[in-house]
Amino acid sequence: MSHSRDYNNIETALIHGGISIDERTGAVNVPIYQTSTYKQDGLGKMRGYEYTRTGNPTREALEALIAELEGGYAGFAFASGLAAETAVLSLLKSGDRVLISSNVYGGTFRLLNQVFDHFGINYTISETDDPESFEKDITEDVKAVLIESPANPLMTVTDIRAVAEIAHRHSLLVIVDNTFMTPYLQRPLELGADIVIHSATKYLGGHSDVVSGLAVVKTKELAEKIAFIQNSTGGVLSPFESFLLIRGIKTLGVRLDRHVENAKAAVKFLTEHKAVKNVYYPGIEGSKGYEVNKRQAKNGGVMISFELKDGYDISVFFESLKLITLAESLGGVESLICHPSSMTHASIPEDIRKKVGITDGLIRLSIGIENIDDILADLKQAIEKSEVK
Ligand SMILES: *Cc1c(COP(=O)(O)O)cnc(C)c1O
Repeated sequence: MSHSRDYNNIETALIHGGISIDERTGAVNVPIYQTSTYKQDGLGKMRGYEYTRTGNPTREALEALIAELEGGYAGFAFASGLAAETAVLSLLKSGDRVLISSNVYGGTFRLLNQVFDHFGINYTISETDDPESFEKDITEDVKAVLIESPANPLMTVTDIRAVAEIAHRHSLLVIVDNTFMTPYLQRPLELGADIVIHSATKYLGGHSDVVSGLAVVKTKELAEKIAFIQNSTGGVLSPFESFLLIRGIKTLGVRLDRHVENAKAAVKFLTEHKAVKNVYYPGIEGSKGYEVNKRQAKNGGVMISFELKDGYDISVFFESLKLITLAESLGGVESLICHPSSMTHASIPEDIRKKVGITDGLIRLSIGIENIDDILADLKQAIEKSEVK
């Protein structure tokens, strides 16, 4: 397998990055090495691979690709985004505390609140979008910060560079969940993060057909630790799914360009609609977080949340949609919609949900790449039907 580096732009890296071209056959796609183990030529004489949990050429090609795209030292592929987070959080020890952005993905919260707490690893919810308030939360036991920007589902923007600077002054590890932006729109390692994690189930995969997670680290030291944890805890991505993810990543650029174009049109439609109370999208000029997001990301991304005014029944709204699918998840080519308080964020206790602003009226929309007129027509007719007469 060979590396080629005759390019300077991410659109090309998406297609040719990592390990491409099979040396043995010239196959332009990385073969699926569907094997659990490898022949050894004698005692201690391995050909670079011994067992697929430890290493697999298809997974390795994906890991090299994501490392290149994020500008990191090494990448790691896991069976889900949460498996990637579990591996990264396993760097912490009993007694350590991690600060998390105030509206992180519900599963991230649950992992810390109901699993890592068994091992004496604590968390504090921190307003990472306000660097001063974030710094006040750094107590002696805080060893890491986990940022989501834009954070889910209110699209709260954290100044990654500012928070990373403060965090490093206190020797914290800076972890950024870059699922919503992907390296095509935002590269946290360049902004000072130490580790980037992804639910690659979303935009990177892009077709709602594979559950997967990735982690990219900045240094050799972190790479050695994560490689050890990955092999020891075992939540690796299968060869076939690694192949699917490589395939998905090739079209990330064209997909996201279209996704973002559609998102902007949907934001305009929603903002101008008389039934809509609030629209949350980091690309709305003048909105909170707009300037910071503009500095650190290519644009506002794709995810939009909004609330309907009183007098509109959201259950009727959801049931009336014909094209847009009511489902968990996001980032696929098809438009998906969800109700965070009862779906993606239901594992966050109600009082915390209310405190961070995840109301029962909040709707989260993942715009697909269908024709925008069809998407808007569906939203329009569903909003009309939901009006309480
Ligand atoms: C979906 C998601 C996760 C969890 O990833 P899985 O692949 O579902 O395990 C983590 N973070 C964010 C922001 C997500 O959207």
